[in-house]
Amino acid sequence: MSTPNTYSNGEITVAYNPKKCTHSECCAQELSEVFRTAVIPWIHLDAASSERIAQQVARCPSGALSCTRIGSCVAVK
Ligand code: SF4
Repeated sequence: MSTPNTYSNGEITVAYNPKKCTHSECCAQELSEVFRTAVIPWIHLDAASSERIAQQVARCPSGALSCTRIGSCVAVK
């Protein structure tokens, strides 16, 4: 069982579970500044607002991406 990779910008935490990813690339095509296919680390949360990132995470068709607001137990998605 793998642990999702997590990234934080101090406002939200984004988790990425590679085992769920279907490589549709919606994230990279629609918000390429944050979801970068050729750079490590591939998720760069400083490149967009937390709200915009949360919107994009919600569009992930496989559920590989998820996010939570720091200091809250309520999921953004
Ligand atoms: S949108 Fe979700 S399923 Fe598609 S590449 Fe990104 S993480 Fe993977």
